[in-house]
Parts: sequence; C-alpha cells; structure tokens
Amino acid sequence: MNVEAELNEDREVERGSSGRGQTPLMRQYYRIKDRHPGALLLFRMGDFYETFDDDAVKVSKILGITLTKRANGKAADVPLAGFPHHALDSYLPRLVRAGERVAICEQLEEPSKTKKIVRRDVVEVVTPGISFRDQLLDPKKSNYLAAIYAAGPADDDTVGFAYLDASTGEFGVAETARDDFEELLQTFQPAEVLVPAHQNGGPNQLRLGDAVITKLDDWIFSFDYAYETLVQHFGTHSLKGFGIEGMDASVIAAGAALHYLSETQKGSVPYVRRIVPHATGEHMLLDPQTRRNLELVASMQDDSGDGSLFSILDRTVTPMGSRRLRRWLVRPLVRLEAIERRLTAVARFVDDNGLRKDLRKALAAVGDLERLGARVSTGRAGPRELVQVKRALRETPKVRQLLVGQVDDLTNHLASLLDPCEALADQIEAHLVDDPPGTPAAGGLIRAGISDELDELRDMAASSREWLTQMQKREAKQTGITSLKVGYNKVFGYYLEVTNAHKDKVPEHFIRKQTLVNAERYITPELKEFEERILTADERILVLEAELFAALRDLAATYTDNLQQNADSLAQLDCFAALAEAAKDLDYVRPVVDESRWLEIRDGRHPVVERLLPLGEPFIPNSLSMNPDEEQIIVITGPNMAGKSVALRQVGLIVLLAQVGSFVPAAHARIGLVDRIFTRVGASDNLAAGESTFLVEMNEAANILNNATQRSLILLDEVGRGTSTFDGLSIAWALAEYLHENERVAARTLFATHYHELNDLATELARVRNYRVQVQEHEGRVIFLRKLVPGGADHSYGIEVARMAGLPREVIARARTILQQLEGQHVQAHLQGKSTAHSVAPAREQMTLFAEDPVLSEIRNTLRDLDVNQITPVEALMKLSELKRRAES
Ligand code: ATP
Repeated sequence: MNVEAELNEDREVERGSSGRGQTPLMRQYYRIKDRHPGALLLFRMGDFYETFDDDAVKVSKILGITLTKRANGKAADVPLAGFPHHALDSYLPRLVRAGERVAICEQLEEPSKTKKIVRRDVVEVVTPGISFRDQLLDPKKSNYLAAIYAAGPADDDTVGFAYLDASTGEFGVAETARDDFEELLQTFQPAEVLVPAHQNGGPNQLRLGDAVITKLDDWIFSFDYAYETLVQHFGTHSLKGFGIEGMDASVIAAGAALHYLSETQKGSVPYVRRIVPHATGEHMLLDPQTRRNLELVASMQDDSGDGSLFSILDRTVTPMGSRRLRRWLVRPLVRLEAIERRLTAVARFVDDNGLRKDLRKALAAVGDLERLGARVSTGRAGPRELVQVKRALRETPKVRQLLVGQVDDLTNHLASLLDPCEALADQIEAHLVDDPPGTPAAGGLIRAGISDELDELRDMAASSREWLTQMQKREAKQTGITSLKVGYNKVFGYYLEVTNAHKDKVPEHFIRKQTLVNAERYITPELKEFEERILTADERILVLEAELFAALRDLAATYTDNLQQNADSLAQLDCFAALAEAAKDLDYVRPVVDESRWLEIRDGRHPVVERLLPLGEPFIPNSLSMNPDEEQIIVITGPNMAGKSVALRQVGLIVLLAQVGSFVPAAHARIGLVDRIFTRVGASDNLAAGESTFLVEMNEAANILNNATQRSLILLDEVGRGTSTFDGLSIAWALAEYLHENERVAARTLFATHYHELNDLATELARVRNYRVQVQEHEGRVIFLRKLVPGGADHSYGIEVARMAGLPREVIARARTILQQLEGQHVQAHLQGKSTAHSVAPAREQMTLFAEDPVLSEIRNTLRDLDVNQITPVEALMKLSELKRRAES
C-alpha cells in the first residue's frame, strides 16, 4: 500500500487551489468527522490509523502513544496521533473501555490504482454499549445498551427503560417508578445509557451508576418518532403484539435505542426481531445492595466474580448458557408454576446421569450460537464462524433425540423447538473447507468442486508455479549462470537475480531493473507475460471465493429467526444441565416450594463459604424453622466471628436458589414463596456519594420498612452498628418492633446481632424467637462451634475475640474490669428495667447515663475506637497507661 504516493498527491493538489487552506486529505477527514459528531474517528491511512485534533490528544492520553503534528496546507498544523492497523485489536478495547465511541474509517479502494485521494468512509462505529468484536465482549456477560426516558418528577413518576444487547438481538422494555429505577439499572448493568440531551428533571436527575452516558438530540425521544421507528423496523401496524402498547415512556426509550443502533450500524440491524416487556411481575425484586450483600455475581472483596454464588454454580458449557444462568441468578422467579417447571427440568438431569452427560457433550460443541446468530444476520460472520454455525446445527438433532418425547416437561418442550436447519448446514458443509481462515480475503476457504471457474483458476495457479521452476532451470542451463534465482517483490514483480560473479554471462534479452551490492535483478518479456497471467489468476480466485462466501452468508442470514430460537432453547438447556451438575457435585436437594409462608431448612449450608473454607475445616450445617404465624422474627446472637452472618446469608441464598429453580445446599428445604429479599448486612459505606455508614444503614432500613410485604424475607445483620451502642441498640429494637406490630410488613425476619440485649425482645413480642450461634468457653478461651441453637446469649464475648486478635494482655485485662464495672453499675439494670415497657425508646436517657460519668464514657469511647489490627504492642502499652492515668484522675 503506497501511502507516500497519496501524501505526495495530497501535496500536489494542495499547491493548486484549496478551499479553507486545508489539504484535500484533511478536507476529506473533516467531512467524515462532521458526520460522526461525538465519536472518536480512527482514520485509516495506509498501514496506520491516524487521529487528529482533539481526538489525537485524547487517544495519545488513553493509549499512551506519542502526539505529533501534521502539516495541513496553509491552515494551521494539526495534532496527530496514530498506531499501526494491526494494533487495532488491542487498542480499540482500551478506547471503548475508557468510555469513547469510536468510528472506524477505512480506505475503500487501493491507493495505487488511483490518482486522487482514495475514497474513505466509516465502516463501523463501536461504542461501549454496541460492539460485535470479541475483544470487547465478555462471553459470560450480556453487553447492554440502555435508553431512558422520564417525563420529569412534576408530571409523572414513571421512568421508561429500554435495554438492547446488540451482540445477541435481545431487546426489551420496562417501566418503573422513579424510586425503583436504580434496581432496574442494577439488573441490567448497561455499559452505555442513552438519555435526551436537554431534557430537564428527567433522567438527568437519576443515578446512573458506572455506565457511559450518551446524550442524543431531544427529538429522538419523542413518542411519534419512536413508535414509527419501532413499527417500521418490525414491519407491524402497531406494538400490540409485543405487549408494550401503552407503555409510552418505554416505547420512547426503545425507539431511541433502536435509532442509535441503526445509526451506528448503518441501518442494518435485522437480527433484532422482537421486543419484550420485562415482566416485573414474574421476578423477585432484588435491590442493588441485596445483590451485593448476597454476593450473587461478584464478591464484596472484588468485582472479578471469584467467590460469588455464580462462580460456584456456573457449570455451563456454552457462553450463552453462562450468560443466561447469570441472568437467572439475579432475577429469581416468583410464580410457583414457573419455579416448578424449572425444578422439574433440573431434576430430570439430576436423576439421569447418562442423559446429562450426553447432553452436555452435545452442547459443548454448540458454542456461542446466540452471538454467532447476530453476526450472521448482520453480514459480519467470517468463514470460521459459519463453520461453527454448521457444527452447532449438526448437534441439534442429537439434542432433540436425547430429550424429545419421553416426558412432557420443559426440557422436552425446549428441545422440540430446535430446528436443525438442514438445508443451511448442508450448504455450509458443501461450500466451506473444514478449517477455513478467519476472513474470506485470505482465500482458500471454498472447497474444490463448487465452481468450475474456481477449480480451473486454481489448477492454473498451481501449474504456473511449476512453470516458474522449469523456466529457472532452463535459463540457468542456457546461460550457464548456475546461481540464477527467480524472486518476487512488490515493486518489480517477478525477476531473475544474477550474482556479480556471473555478470558477464547475462544474455541480451534480460532487461536490468535493479542493482544490489552483490547482484543484479532482471526481467524478461516471457517472465512479464507469466506474471500478468498468474497475478490475474490469483486476484480472480480471491474475488470468486469472496463472492461464493457472500452468497452463503446471505443464505445463512435468512435463517436468523431459527438460529435465535435454537440459541434460546440450547442456552436454557445448558443452564438446567449445569444446575443439575452442580446439584450432584455439591450434594444439593430439590426444595419444596409452596404458597405458604413457611421457611424450613434442615441442615442448610452456605453454598460459597462451604466451598471456600480452608482444607480440613468442616462446614457446620444449620437448621431453622419459621412459621410466621408463630415465629416471625428470629434474633440470632453470638460473639463476633461466631458465624451469624453466614447463617443469615445462607437462608437468603437457599431461598433465592430455590426460586431460581435450582436445587439447594441442605438436607431438606421447604420454602413458602418469597416476593422480595431485603438485606441490611454490615456496614457498606457509600463514601463516594458522601454518605456516612450510619446514613446508608438508615436509608436501607427505611427502604425495607417502606417496601416489605408479608411475603418478603428480611435479613438484618448488625443494624445500628454505624452509631453508638445505645443509639444502635434502640434503633434495632424499634425496627424489630415495627416489623412485628405492622401487619403490612410482617415479613419473615432474621436479625443477627451481637447486642445480646436484643434477646429481651422475645419476652416482649409474641412472634420473636431467640437463637444463638454456639460457642464454648474453655479456660477463658472461646471455641467456635458454629452451631445455631435455640436460646439467647448472655454476653457478647467481644473481649475474648479482641484477645484472639492479639490485643495486648494488659488492655484485655483492663477492658474486662471496665466491662464488669459498667455492667455492674447500670447497663443491665437499665436495659432490663426499660425494656419491660413496651418500647425501648429512651436512647436519650441512656446518653444521660454516661453523662453522669464522663471519665468512664471517655474510656469506653477510646477503647471502642481502638483498631486492634493497626496498633503495635508499644502503642498499646502507651494507650493503656493513658487510660490508667485517666481512670485515676
Ligand atoms: P461478626 O459479628 O464479626 O460479623 P459473625 O458472627 O457474623 O461475625 P461470620 O462472618 O458469619 O461471623 O463467620 C465468621 C467466619 O466463620 C466465616 O468467615 C467462616 O469462615 C466461618 N464460619 C461461619 N459459619 C460457619 C459454619 N457453619 N461452618 C464452618 N465455618 C463457618
């Protein structure tokens, strides 16, 4: 590729006339750039992608590449940054992950064949939410583009939401109240969110999380335009058939999403075949903190997914199955019938090991048919991908045979929907070699016997090479130049090379073309004629192969619907088999799910903790039974580190798994349907949003009290930890009382706390029961038994745990004395005295309790604030002597 020629050309033309004083090349650049506002333009010039102006500054910063300048005729120099074209695969993801929209502008013709500036245009726009490139897609995660339309709080509370996965064609809408919006966003976690540019009070006031925000012109978010865009795209008269008619705000959002997708894809998005309403009534609502607290798809420690429920359960064998399972885990079901259908499907594979194994073997060969289907329908699939489509299709009859007809369940139904698309698979098999190159341009992908012309040309090319060898031999013999060699380079084509030693033997018909240090290169008329022939043949072969491939790809595109349906069925089957595999492997049982409000778990385990305990440390199973008419609130006490949080979360996870349709880690489980799981676990600071630990806690508590129903499950861990002991205790007490006394929110509640004082609730409130995580004291030490048993704890063991953490002995001893004094003085008496009244309210009075003895209160605060993990023994001693001094003062 001769860029120099083009640049020279550029200079030539520049000397003529030049509009704004810019070179023609730069004029072309700005013309294209203007058509893609807001996008970073990668401008192909020969073997490089170049960027100019602000784009160049940005690119050099993001990629850490050099920023230079390029002359621009009489106009000012422009900043320039570029990288070799083969680096695109590694640089493009970095640009997009930095939140950039990137327009890739290619050369549309060979520079050598034209005198003018080569034609260029944008062939692809890649954005965080829209990409088909493997480097940018996580095979285990959907990549959603979302659009949001909200009329503004004054007019209407509704937020319209549309989500679209361009890599699979999944497209749906949902409408929520403003308050629940964040939850919806968490469900989909879009990579990019479209909002109107100027709308006030609408989405701009919503919290949009980490997504890249792209602002579009307001007119795109108008109902008429959106409606028209959608019906035109789907070729329907109305949206009634999709069940979204009347969801006006969502229709607007969906129109905007589709508009944006077609803009970036230059109009070609045929694989988006339907739009579905996101059935909020079908799924359990999980607010973002619950999803985080239960560590469903990411652990609290890091985002990598290790240590999450998903990481333990994901035994799928296809990427599309893996994505589906992930979605299932964050959206458990609420309708009994749907849950039972899934459980029965899983049970079938649990019961039949052979069937499960055979199915998983077939599925493993299918690959990511969902994303392949989308690539096929947009004309993006390469030869290798079509071969993979064929392989996937060839597996479908096997899957059907395994599953269809024997039982009437969901697996049977899904398998019966599979379409082997034999005509397509046969065509792909007939046309493409088994292991073709990645792109048609590489050639060698079409089998022999498909096209006579292609076969002839290939024969000719093969025999020409033979001819060349013969010619070399013949000339060497005739001239006596033994070292005569035939070679090829791009500038001179084929040549004969003669070393200097044989220079005098060169015959007259050799025409000299190039002189090297040790040799000279010649051509002959015969060689030129040959060259013409072979180059034309090679070129023609490539053209023919590309044509044949394009026809095949067009044929495949007509099967988009069938491929999508197959992908959908296979992904679900993959999930069922994977859940069965996990159930067998991890010793799970089928839960009994019913319409009651019971919660009965025998020997339940925490699915993640039981897998991650250090070797040799057994997981201790725990049982729990709640009939909310009698036991609505369970208070679990126990010292720090005893296992309260684990016990609490395991109940949440077992309920969740049951409603996902999975077997559960227990000996037996009966789950009365849960409409929503709420958690308030530990202190999750939202410091970035400027909220204190305590405020976050209280916001979350308020959310629970406002939204819980009798069918909910509430898990509260250490409520009130973020404030002083007595404030915390009082709030926890009041919360429990509220949940107990208000019928609307009388949800099944588990309350873990190390305030053993909360045990007194059981004597006050009829449906409160005490459990404790058992520990044993042995010679002043605490041994954790991890066993949940009925009954409350009498003290908190906090000091023993502090000792185990390595706090100096003097501090421990002193703390014991202080504790005894405190307990002896007022605390017990005070709490017991007050709690006999029906409310514990008097936090204020408790404050005055300490106001009576400021020294003790100060010592207590100092001890409380001490971070035992951060302090050295010497510092501890100094602290202790300071405490002693204060006590004596
Ligand atoms: P804190 O009040 O300090 O938060 P906690 O009582 O909530 O403590 P957990 O975090 O639940 O304690 O448990 C502490 C550790 O004990 C866990 O990380 C786990 O390793 C272990 N553990 C908890 N439950 C069990 C169990 N049933 N079997 C075995 N190990 C367990």
